[in-house]
Amino acid sequence: MGVLSKRAGQLAESITIAITTLAGELKREGRDIISFSAGEPDFDTPQQIKNSAIDAINSGFTKYTAVDGIPELKKAVADKLKRENGLIYEPKHIIVSNGAKHSIFNLFQTIIDDGDEVIIPSPYWVTYPELVVYSGGKVVEIKTDDSSNFKITPEQLKNAITPKTKLLVLTSPSNPTGAVYSRDELVALSEVLKNTNVFVASDEMYEKLVYDDKFISTASISEDMYNRTITINGLSKSVAMTGWRFGYLATPHLELITAMRNLQSQSTSNINSITQKASIVGLSAEIAPEVEKMVKAFHERRDYAVSRINSIDGLSVVKPAGAFYLFVNISKISNDSMKFSKDLLNNEGVAVVPGVGFGAEGYIRMSFATSMKNIENGLNRLEKFVKSI
Ligand code: GLU
Repeated sequence: MGVLSKRAGQLAESITIAITTLAGELKREGRDIISFSAGEPDFDTPQQIKNSAIDAINSGFTKYTAVDGIPELKKAVADKLKRENGLIYEPKHIIVSNGAKHSIFNLFQTIIDDGDEVIIPSPYWVTYPELVVYSGGKVVEIKTDDSSNFKITPEQLKNAITPKTKLLVLTSPSNPTGAVYSRDELVALSEVLKNTNVFVASDEMYEKLVYDDKFISTASISEDMYNRTITINGLSKSVAMTGWRFGYLATPHLELITAMRNLQSQSTSNINSITQKASIVGLSAEIAPEVEKMVKAFHERRDYAVSRINSIDGLSVVKPAGAFYLFVNISKISNDSMKFSKDLLNNEGVAVVPGVGFGAEGYIRMSFATSMKNIENGLNRLEKFVKSI
């Protein structure tokens, strides 16, 4: 008699979390590890945000709140979406969850029926396909590679859509490739979706981290796209708040919001009350100078790392327009990214995430959300490792 449900039995661990945890353990054991694994800013959460949390604790704001978030917070989300993204949502169109990962979980659980097809461009963030399958859906992958800057074409999208397609997952800027869709590209994709019943989950977690292209919200493309898009975001990456667990989702479909609120009310209830107060500050315009400082540092690191990697024989990388990841092509050296990553960690103490976890063999993901000193040392070690193969 097996103890596990079939559903749970097929769920894999998040490889990004697993490698980050392993790198941390090795460091604690005293090994000299440089980690490019974590999708986590190395900056501290800005002080204004912390102060708001401290005030919340001291004033006793420590009790249950509304399941979908306190009204001031939902209003702060609506204000942000209007101010920065040109999107008009009312607070009732918004639900706040324990990180955008939780928002995605809630969405997939409430929008996907057994057998529904969900289109996911690959390379994809590790969590999407796992949660689609967990929710009873079928993953339909659209493959991209560095020759197309990791972006899907309207033609590919058209070919992937069937009468069973329920949802397209779009991530711009992308984790793991850093690809950013321009307005024209989004318009071209939106033309394909017109007159279909396909919804779009637009994961905009990395919106603030753009270096070359302007960020465009998917729902802002047209009224048709607004109606079919579910906008997902949070503060983890843009304001260095990964541990606080704040994510949100906005959609004009109130029945979806109600279903997600019901699910949340039966599972986690409200997110941490203190995080809610802190996030109001994190969403406000006053935080912009802090974000600017971080983006400037990421920009410099990106430029340095890209030129270093492209100068190493056997490696190549497309310059990512956004996010803080390099999706490095290792296929001239290895077509086993798991072995490559394990050997690199064992031999040189450098942690990276194998591309196979993102649906793309022959690549590794390196996060440049770490200090310039670490990037320099880590790339020296990577170069030595590649030369030794
Ligand atoms: N999103 C980050 C990453 O890809 C954090 C880890 C995770 O949630 O998977 O590294």
